[in-house]
Amino acid sequence: MTQVFNFSSGPAVLPHEVLLQVQAEMLDWHGSGMSVMEMSHRGPEFGQILAEAEADLRTLMAIPDNYKVLFLQGGAHLQFAMLPLNFAPVGSTVDFVNTGHWSKVAIKEVSRYANVNIVASSEDKNFSYVPDESTWQRTPDAAFLHYCSNETIGGVEFNHIPQANGVPLICDMSSNILSRPVDVSQFGMIYAGAQKNMGPSGVAVSIVRSDLLGKARSDTPTMLNYKSYADNGSMYNTPPSFGIYVAGLVYKHVLQQGGVAAMEAKNIEKANVIYAAIDASNGFYHCPTALADRSRMNIPFTLADQQLDQAFLAGAEARHLLQLKGHRSVGGMRASIYNAMPLAGCQALADYMNEFAKMKG
Ligand code: PMP
Repeated sequence: MTQVFNFSSGPAVLPHEVLLQVQAEMLDWHGSGMSVMEMSHRGPEFGQILAEAEADLRTLMAIPDNYKVLFLQGGAHLQFAMLPLNFAPVGSTVDFVNTGHWSKVAIKEVSRYANVNIVASSEDKNFSYVPDESTWQRTPDAAFLHYCSNETIGGVEFNHIPQANGVPLICDMSSNILSRPVDVSQFGMIYAGAQKNMGPSGVAVSIVRSDLLGKARSDTPTMLNYKSYADNGSMYNTPPSFGIYVAGLVYKHVLQQGGVAAMEAKNIEKANVIYAAIDASNGFYHCPTALADRSRMNIPFTLADQQLDQAFLAGAEARHLLQLKGHRSVGGMRASIYNAMPLAGCQALADYMNEFAKMKG
């Protein structure tokens, strides 16, 4: 098998050990004689898989007892619609920090149902930074305050949790969940699609404070009501069982490696290797993000001479450094280096970047 380093932004690289285990258990999960794909979700085997996945995620994130852990479908996009239906009464106002593409998509969807107040935006500088919290223009009685802790496309990451000021704080943590410790008790809800740091696409996770449930608008469809999932152990309908199984294996793998604090230490080291290559290139490469807000998960960078983009990508591919093309909305390159990207992958990319710059610079 060719050894590649996959820098995709999501679906993204998974831990090799997890893939091997999935392979080993594919036809016969723990002596059941069945693949997880074939099991009834109501049977004892899948019941164990789901219970362990939840318990391991609770351990990893130190999730307090007054929070529900829900496994859903529809990605983070469906949560954008579920947020106002569940947490914003008709006529209410919700507060949003606008730090880039994913904030904007959430804002657009939520505005269909509630008044949206943008407390701060970094659009003035092409979404390259996190606006200073002291400047945020908040609504005192907002239904909730929403932010995206890591803008996957812009490569902008919050390094702190904003003050909630008594308003439920809701965070789209799709692209940096499990990459660093967070104090869950500061949030009303955290949600994330699985396909970056947690598993395959098709599963989303929501960690929600119990007292916020049960207040959905009366016309909320059952499947868009978080309470339906909470009351039925994430099994109001057939859950994405195989994806939950793989996510559960990823949780065990992260635990074995020392948990999210160990992930954070590795992620800092990994990101530093690539940022160092950019910063030492005398402008051959450029990262648009403000220094203090640089993401550890997604590193966008451009080449000073865009004519070299194709050659850069072709050379990278020849070295098995894959999926480095930047998002179509921004161009350039983007290296996504989630938990499962080994340090060796970041080093291989940095070495290549140095050589390419030397050769063409
Ligand atoms: N939020 C963030 C921060 C993301 O990175 C993504 C996916 N790239 C989404 C939301 C949307 O996720 P999905 O496609 O699973 O709905």
